[in-house]
Amino acid sequence: MKHKITLIPGDGIGPEVTGATQRLLEKAGAEIEWEVVEAGAGALEKHGTPLPDAVIESIRRNKVALKGPITTPVGEGFTSVNVALRKQLNLYANVRPISSKYGISAKFLDVDMVIVRENTEDVYAGLEQDIAPGVAQTLKIITTVASDRIAKFAFEYARKEGRKMVHAVHKANIMKKSDGLFLKSCREIAKGYPEISYKEIIVDNCAMQMVMHPEQFDVMVLTNLYGDIISDLGAGLVGGLGLVPGANYGQDLAVFEAVHGSAPDIAGKNVANPLAVMLSAEQMMRYLGEDHVANHIKHAIIVVLTEKTHLTPDMGGTATTAELTDALMREIVH
Ligand code: NAD
Repeated sequence: MKHKITLIPGDGIGPEVTGATQRLLEKAGAEIEWEVVEAGAGALEKHGTPLPDAVIESIRRNKVALKGPITTPVGEGFTSVNVALRKQLNLYANVRPISSKYGISAKFLDVDMVIVRENTEDVYAGLEQDIAPGVAQTLKIITTVASDRIAKFAFEYARKEGRKMVHAVHKANIMKKSDGLFLKSCREIAKGYPEISYKEIIVDNCAMQMVMHPEQFDVMVLTNLYGDIISDLGAGLVGGLGLVPGANYGQDLAVFEAVHGSAPDIAGKNVANPLAVMLSAEQMMRYLGEDHVANHIKHAIIVVLTEKTHLTPDMGGTATTAELTDALMREIVH
C-alpha cells in the first residue's frame, strides 16, 4: 500500500541521514509518496519562521512524519521547533527504545530499556521570565491530565510489548508538588496493571543505577526534562546517539525521529551515522502495518553491524554515511 508521509529533512546532519534513510526505505520496498516540508534554521531564512504553518498542516493531513533533527539556538533566538511541533500536534508520548542488541558498545551487553517521556509540559512549557536584574524564572508545569495520560501510555505499551516492569523516575523528594503529582498519577494507573511490576526511583539514583546495572530497567516513564537527559545517558550505554531511534505519538498522529540533534560539528562531512533515523523509520513502517519493509531494514542493520566492516566513525569505524547506507542496501534481497 502506498503511504503519503511528511518528511522534514531538518538542519545540520538532518538532510544527510534522512536522505540515506529514504534510499534504504525504497530499497526495502516501501511505497511512499514523500511530502517534503522545511522547518528549522533553513526555513527561518526562506520563510521568515522556523516552523511554517505548512509543516503543521502537512503532518495533520498525512498523520505520519519522518523528521530530521532541528537546531535550537542556545540562550537566544527562536524557541525550539521540536517543542513547538510536539505541543501544537499534542504529540504527548515520546518513546525511545535503548538496546545493546547491536553490540556496538562492549561495556554493556544486557541493555533493553524503553524510555517513555512526557512530551508536552514540565519546564518545556516555555514559561520563563526575568524577574529582576540577575534573577530569572522558569516554570515547571505538571498536570494530572498529562501525567495520567503518559503513565497510561507507558503501562499500555508495557502490556502490548510483553514487558514486565515500569519504573517511574522522579525527584518528588524535592519537588513534592510537581513531581509528587506525577508520581501520584503513576501509582494510580499502576493499579490497573497488576501483571506489571511498578517501581519508583529518584532521578539521580536512576542515573547511577543505569551506569552500574542497566539490565534492571525495562520500561521507564519520566517527565519531559528527566526523559530528555536520561535518553542521552541511555544512548551512551549502547554505543551513542547514532543508534537510538524515537517516536512521538499523539491521538492519531505520529512523528518519527532520532534522539540525536543536528550535530553541527560533523554536518556536511558525510560521516553522520544514519542508523538512528533508519531505526526510527523501521518503527514507522511497523506503525503503518508494513512489517515486511521493517523486517528488511532490521535484518540489514543487524547483518552490517555484526560484520562491523562498514561502521561510521562514531561506532569506531571509518565508513562514510553513504558507504554504510550502500552496505545496508546490499543486504536487502527481495
Ligand atoms: P547532538 O545530538 O546534535 O550531538 C551530540 C554529539 O553526538 C555530537 O558530538 C555529535 O557529533 C554526535 N552525534 C549526534 N548524532 C550523531 C550521528 N547521527 N552520528 C554521529 N555522531 C552523532 O546534540 P547537541 O550538539 O547538544 O545539539 C545540536 C543541536 O541539535 C542543538 O541546536 C540542539 O538544540 C539540537 N537538537 C535537536 C534535537 C531534535 O531535533 N530532536 C534533539 C537534540 C538536539
